[in-house]
Amino acid sequence: MLKIGRSAITRKDGTARLTASISTNLRTIVLWFSVPEAQADCLTVGRADPFLLALLPAAMHGGHEIICEDPVSERLHYQLCNDLIPALASVGDWYQSIRVTAPTTNQPHPNQDAVGTGFSGGVDSLFTIYCHGTDSECPLTHIAVFNSGVFEGTHYRDGFATACGKAAQFGNETGLKTVFVDTNFVEVLPERFLDVYSFRNLSCALALQGLFSTYLLSSGHDAGNFHIDLHNAASFDPLTVFCAGTESLTFYNAGTEVKRWEKLNALSQWPVSYRWLHPCVYGYAGEKNCGHCKKCARDLTTLYALCALDLYNQVIDVKAYHHNIAARIGFVLANRGNHLYDETILLLQKRAIAIPSTAYVYEKQFRRFLMRNER
Ligand SMILES: [Zn+2]
Repeated sequence: MLKIGRSAITRKDGTARLTASISTNLRTIVLWFSVPEAQADCLTVGRADPFLLALLPAAMHGGHEIICEDPVSERLHYQLCNDLIPALASVGDWYQSIRVTAPTTNQPHPNQDAVGTGFSGGVDSLFTIYCHGTDSECPLTHIAVFNSGVFEGTHYRDGFATACGKAAQFGNETGLKTVFVDTNFVEVLPERFLDVYSFRNLSCALALQGLFSTYLLSSGHDAGNFHIDLHNAASFDPLTVFCAGTESLTFYNAGTEVKRWEKLNALSQWPVSYRWLHPCVYGYAGEKNCGHCKKCARDLTTLYALCALDLYNQVIDVKAYHHNIAARIGFVLANRGNHLYDETILLLQKRAIAIPSTAYVYEKQFRRFLMRNER
């Protein structure tokens, strides 16, 4: 059994922290979400919603019933119990079906009618921002950075601070407001981030029900690639997004209607992206992409196939890409079978882009390397 105690807000050192104690038979911890004190009225006090969603994977993995002292939004409770939990529990034995016992409420939480999305500079994030301008049916008002586990290493809070600084700069340039949520997920939750990233990010948005009426989670996969891989939460984003909404906060999974190469093609029409595109595993939006990590190799090759690489010379070392083109394309070829890399290969073929013969030599080497790492 896992018990989520009553939520409260504490103020300290210019921040406002939404807290709840989490008890099991073995121990009690405090889980928290923190914003600058000036944004304290954005926090969702008096509801268990954000805590429940953040803790759901750990509780399901351990087979623990969840008991909440605070009310849970009725829609969220219904969708978790009747859709998400049974669906995830039906796939293998990683997650078990559990009960969520809680008082429920169908009263909407008052909010500021804000529309938000996460900002990272990645392809999916920028595409969502590009498509939700003032003339769209769902114009964005805010970009968010959540410290939910994406920043790695022992100094991950420094990484969070840097990412917030970059987002503030981007917000100034584009007229979007910012909201930053720190948490202690990394200290108290045991999961691998990619297994649970959507639960954690959506729980941060649920902690801001005093602000958002709509939140867009940028999709990592197109709708045609929907499947349930419990160790890649992005594979079933449409399901999680559908189930996490409440009476006052609607979630959308943005960008599922197009493939990744189509996102890059669209972004190449948007000059703001020329300074901010950052698919790279390393560093932050607005900085140079490394050019050689697995994401750079794939997305820079896609831009090359689209004849758009030169547009990004402020954030990509285009010369270095051309110098190493055989290795970069070889890496993409070696990842055949992964649909995101397959898209790039198909694009190269469709656009009759010449592939240097040495790329196939690199392909063999990378394939041996990847197989060795898998073993
Ligand atoms: Zn990179």
